[in-house]
Order: sequence, then C-alpha cells, then structure tokens
Amino acid sequence: MKTFALIGNPNCGKTTLFNALTGSTAHVGNWPGVTVDKREGVYKDGGKKIKIVDLPGIYSLSPYTPEELIARNFILSDEPDAIVNIVDATNLERNLYLTTQILEIDIPVIIALNMMDEVEKSGDKINLSKLEKQLGVPVVAISALKGSGLKQLMDRADSMQNKRVGTTILKGSMDEHLDKAVDFYRRENNSSPLFHAVKLLENDEIELKKSGAAEIVESFGNVDLEAAIADARYSYISENLAVAKSKGNGQTLTKSDKIDKVLTHRIWAIPIFLLVLFAIFHLTFSENLLFLNGFGDSTAWMPSLVECGLAVEEDGETVYNNFGVEILAVFYDGTVYSPGVMLTNFLNLFLDHISSGVVTLMQNAGAAEWTVGLVGDGILGGIFAVLGFLPQILVLFLFFSILEDTGYMARIAFVLDRIFRRFGLSGRAFMPMIMGFGCSVPATVNTRTLADDKERTATIRVIPFFSCGAKLPILTAVAGGIVAAFGVGNADVITFGMYILGIAAAIVCVLLMRNTSLKGDTPPFIMELPTYRMPGFKNLMLHLWDKTKHFIKKAFTIIFASTVIIWLLSHLSWNWNYLSDEEMQNSILASLGMLLQPLFTPLGFGSQLGEFGWVFAVAVITGLVAKENVIATFTTLAICISAYAGSGTQDGVQELVGLIDVITQSSQVPQQQFIAALIAFIAFNMTTIPCFAACATAKSELQKGKFKWTLLFWLVASYVVGAAVYTVGSWWWTVFIWLAAVVAVSVVIVLKNKEKKK
Ligand code: GDP
Ligand code: MG
Repeated sequence: MKTFALIGNPNCGKTTLFNALTGSTAHVGNWPGVTVDKREGVYKDGGKKIKIVDLPGIYSLSPYTPEELIARNFILSDEPDAIVNIVDATNLERNLYLTTQILEIDIPVIIALNMMDEVEKSGDKINLSKLEKQLGVPVVAISALKGSGLKQLMDRADSMQNKRVGTTILKGSMDEHLDKAVDFYRRENNSSPLFHAVKLLENDEIELKKSGAAEIVESFGNVDLEAAIADARYSYISENLAVAKSKGNGQTLTKSDKIDKVLTHRIWAIPIFLLVLFAIFHLTFSENLLFLNGFGDSTAWMPSLVECGLAVEEDGETVYNNFGVEILAVFYDGTVYSPGVMLTNFLNLFLDHISSGVVTLMQNAGAAEWTVGLVGDGILGGIFAVLGFLPQILVLFLFFSILEDTGYMARIAFVLDRIFRRFGLSGRAFMPMIMGFGCSVPATVNTRTLADDKERTATIRVIPFFSCGAKLPILTAVAGGIVAAFGVGNADVITFGMYILGIAAAIVCVLLMRNTSLKGDTPPFIMELPTYRMPGFKNLMLHLWDKTKHFIKKAFTIIFASTVIIWLLSHLSWNWNYLSDEEMQNSILASLGMLLQPLFTPLGFGSQLGEFGWVFAVAVITGLVAKENVIATFTTLAICISAYAGSGTQDGVQELVGLIDVITQSSQVPQQQFIAALIAFIAFNMTTIPCFAACATAKSELQKGKFKWTLLFWLVASYVVGAAVYTVGSWWWTVFIWLAAVVAVSVVIVLKNKEKKK
C-alpha cells in the first residue's frame, strides 16, 4: 500500500482533508496547532487503498518545535511515496514558503490548493497552470470542507512517477556554496542531498551535528546565509508565484478585520469574552432563562405548575396530573428553562420511566429485595444519574466548538497573551487549557505545542483545573442540590462561578510555579489569526458525536462497574452478610468511608457532617477512577440513605436534596457552613488529582521524575482551595487570614528571588 503524507501550515485544512479522505473523525479546529502528533488512516476508492498520514502543521522544515521535528523526521526517515502539500489558497504567499522547502526533498510532491471555495467567494482568481509550471509539480484545486476536487487530487497523486529529484528556487549567489554542500551529502550517500545541503547553509542545528558538516560551513567564511535564503525564498514567491493570483474585491478580508476591531479591542476584548462565556453558561445551565422570572425570590412572578393546579406535591415530590403536564414540565415549571436544562429534563423523563418501569417489573416478578436494590438503585441509579447530564455537556461543547471553529478562540489567545505573559505563560498555553474544558487527556497531549519544557510542565499541572466534561455533573448536581435544598442562588451563577474559580486557581498556581520551581523565560508567541469562518455543520456534529460515544462507552463500562462495586460494598458487612438500606451504616464501605472522613474536616465535608458524612469521602475516592463516579456514587448511596428507593427520579439533584436533608437533621450542621462545604466539595474535586486516564497521560507527557511532584501538587492545591472556599464561605472574616498568607508567601518569594539575583 502506498503512503501519502499530508503536510502544510497550521490551519490550512490538513485535518479536514484527512477526515474527508479517510472517513475519520479527528479533531478539526480553526486554530493553529490542533494536531500535534501524526495520525494515520486509509483512503479507499474502488479497489485502491492508500495510507494517509496527517502531520502536525508547520511553517518551515527547520525544527524548532516538537511538531516541526515530528513532521520533518517522518518525511525524511519514513520516506512516504508522495507528499501532499496543502496550501491555503487564501494565504498563498505565506503557505508557499514551506512549499519551496518541500520541493528540495527527493520525493514526489503534489500541491492541494485548499479553501478554493473561499477564494471563489471573494472573487480572487488563481491561475493553476501558471503555478504548476513555476513549481514543476502538479497543482489541484480543492475544498476539503465542501469535499470538492478530492478524487482528482488522489488520482493525480496516485499516477505520479515514483521518483523525483529535489529542486530549489535558490539560484545565483549561493550556487557555489550549495554545490559544495550537495557534494558532501552525495559522498555520504544521503538521500535528498539537496534538502540537507540547503538546511546546512541555513545553519540547521541537526545538520551541523553531522561529522564533517560544520567544517564545510566554516569554509564559506563569515556570511549569514540563513537570512539570505529566507529572503531569496520570499522574493521568489512574490515575483514568480504570487503573480498567479489576481485580486477580486477582497471583501472577506476587510470583514474579518472589522470584526477584529471590536473583538480584540484593547479594553473591551476581555469583558466581551466574559460576557460570551456567561451567555453560554446561562443557555446551558439556567433554570430561569433570560431572567424572565426576575432575579431572586422577591421578584419572581411566574406561577409553578402546582400553583396552576396542574400538579400536586406529595412527600416532597411533584406528581403531575397527566402525561401532557409532565411534558410541559420539561420546558416550564415556575420559570422558563434554558435549552440545556430542557434537553436534560427531556432525557430524564425517559430515564425515569425506564428505571421505575424496570423496578416495578422486577417487583411484580417477585425478584429478591437485594436484586431490585442492585439494579434500581445501584446500576440504573448510578448510570442514569451520569447519562442525564449528557445533554448539558453536549450543549456546552456545541458552543465551545462554535467559538473554536469560527476563529474566535484564536483571538482570545491573542488577547490573553498580554495578560498570560505577566504570569509566565504565552498565549499558546491557552489552547490546551481550553481543551481541558473538554477532557484533560487530549489537552495534556496538546501541550506539545509549547516549546519551553518548564512552561509545559506548569501548563500540564493546571489543566485539570479547567473543569472537564466529566466533572460537569458534579458541578451541576451539587449546584442544583444547593439551590433546591436551601432555596438560595442560581444554578448557572454557581456553575459559572466555579469555572471562574478553577481558572483563578490555575493562574495563581502558574504564577507560583513560574516564580519558584519552574522559573524560566516565556517564549514569544507568534500566531497569525485565522480568518473568521462559519463553522461547518458536519464538523460540529462530528465533535458532538465523538463526545457522546466516549461518554456512553464510559457510562456502560467504568461507571457501570464502579457503581456495582459501590453498591455491593455498601450492602455487605465485613462478614459478608447482606445489609438492607437501613443497615448501611454497618457496611464495609461505610466503615472505610468513616476512616477517611476526618481527612476532609478542614474542607467542611468531614466529621462535622456526622454519621452520614462518609458518603462524601467515598465519592472523592471513586472520582479518582473517573470523575463521573462522584455523582454516580452519590446518587446510588443517597437513594439508599434517604430512602428514595424505587421512587424513580434519578437526576442526581433530587437524591442529593434527600441526602442534604438527612445530614442536616442528623448532624445539625448550620446551613451556611453546609452550603460552604458543598461548594468546597465541588472546588476540591475540580482541582484535585484528575481521573486515572488523565494521570497516565500526564505521566507520559511530563519529563522523568516530574510526575510524583505533580501528584503532590494536585493534592496540596485542592486541599488549600477547598479549605479556603469552606472557611471563607462559613466565616467571611477568614478572608483576611488567607490574604495575609498570600502576602506573606509573595514577600518570601520576591525576597528569595532578589537574593538569588545578587
Ligand atoms: P489543520 O490545522 O491544517 O489541520 O486545519 P483544520 O483541518 O483543523 O482546519 C482549519 C479550519 O479551516 C477549520 O475551521 C476548517 O473548517 C477550515 N477549512 C478547512 N478546509 C476548508 C475549505 O476547503 N474551505 C473552507 N472554507 N474552510 C476550510
Ligand atoms: Mg490539524
């Protein structure tokens, strides 16, 4: 099977082309640096099969960053049968800079002129045959997004001769030097001697290390060929290649510029970004859409379904008059819900009916009490509690995908670079952090785009603070529980606040690390802004489908197994006797939980929560396997503790309310302290050791010996954050103690750094 390598500048559409050719669903983003490793797939057309390799985007073949090295090494040592060089036609001049280097390699090259749909829209024209003649290799116009020209591209690539000798546009003054270097590599039997020779002239570090190479460069005397070569490439492009393009009215460009005037404004950019973020959280989590029902209880005016006489309150549960009202309650109950909440309600309606149906069926069939408990409370309770959050996760990611695909996220990185720089990170670190909102695993891998090792370590450590999709159920359920049980606050405000708290914790920790254990310079951040684009519908759906698949798979494997284990341990005594829900306090799990419980006393969810407080300790531990487990565990145990068994509502919030009631009665913990403890519980889970998969990824991406310190860092950070939230939330004046501690630490660091400088 032939192998074709896709190579091109960041953001030129490589991954889109890769997906279109191979039917894969790799991550596409309107953002340079999304692909940081190579990816393989197979193109099939009739009986023809071709292996396609997607390489990271690069601007040049001189390896400075890890991505450039990956791409260069693959091409030079794996020797693909052909290189498909993707060129963003809307950005011809800059993209051809890489092309002139690729042509120097002795491998057949074909140019895929991408984004032709946009070129056509703007009215520009590109003369393909002129370009083809100048470059000496085939040029095919395509649109990876629309799928046009792909077959032609592959057919022409497939029919190319399998031998090609590299060509260079460098002529004239450099000939003598170049010949000398080429001779050297020929003698060494190197493949692609021309490529290596040019690189040597450019003072490429890898080439200089080869024995005998440095002497050749010295023999040229003191000339800066590196700059001369770059110059030569650019002037060749503008004189001979860019002329193939004739300008249309150029409307697309100015539109992007106009939007940027507002969105990257010096002062307004950040407030606008925060506003956009809040709008997203509001549409995803709010139970009071657009604040239609006023702010807070005093201004509320919309009647609830019970007040309308459409439902009745029974044992703290709402029972609807008929199925029609139940459907209505998906959209409205005293307030209009946000789209995210509506979808969640809708799914839960189904899940509720399924689980209560199953429980009834089992009871009627005369199943043993413990099997009904295991299936109803354990398995279905746990899995459904987690699945119920899928709609909100998807809505949130839909919004994030849109922000990314339009090119807005890249602007934010650019704007934030100014601020990031002050605490020791470049704007480049923003992408992995944003990806952290999805999942820490790909986010951690993406830190490969950071050239500086210390910056990279610091970034990897704070990625879990950007609350991932799996932690979202913790946030939503606990926030929902607080609102429902105590009647305070808004779920979307609490959720948004927690995300901001995570970001703030990340900033403080980076600042701390970059001034102590991970000191170093911040490399400059160079990234051009991608043009604004309408996000492709197919691409958005691919993102969401990917998320859904992953989530469902996890629910039915890891979470399924964990809930079964949790349920069993909570219903077995140390001498393996079955315990009913009422006897759960004597179970294996309860005694283990009680052992750990005091550890969390400084954070508010330890001993002060009394005899049932161990549930929190257990939830924290199961969260180390997968964060969804926190809520799955909670729900399973809460159903049993609060005797909700078989009641049928499994959205996590209801059960939590039951648990909160039971704990409040049994421990007499004051309301304010309990609320603070619950928020501290979210904060702790958000900043503590991430799930198993994320830990494994961090371990493999970090330098040797850094991982154990990273684990310790997560533990300490989450403990401090949790304790701060709990104490300040319970006794506001403790804020001064924390501030004093911050000042003291800062002073010590500043003094120490000064001392070292001397
Ligand atoms: P990569 O960084 O080279 O892998 O680029 P991606 O495949 O991630 O694409 C970058 C952006 O360009 C995404 O927003 C794509 O939707 C968009 N894009 C890719 N190909 C085309 C195309 O042919 N036409 C248009 N209009 N947009 C495209
Ligand atoms: Mg890519």
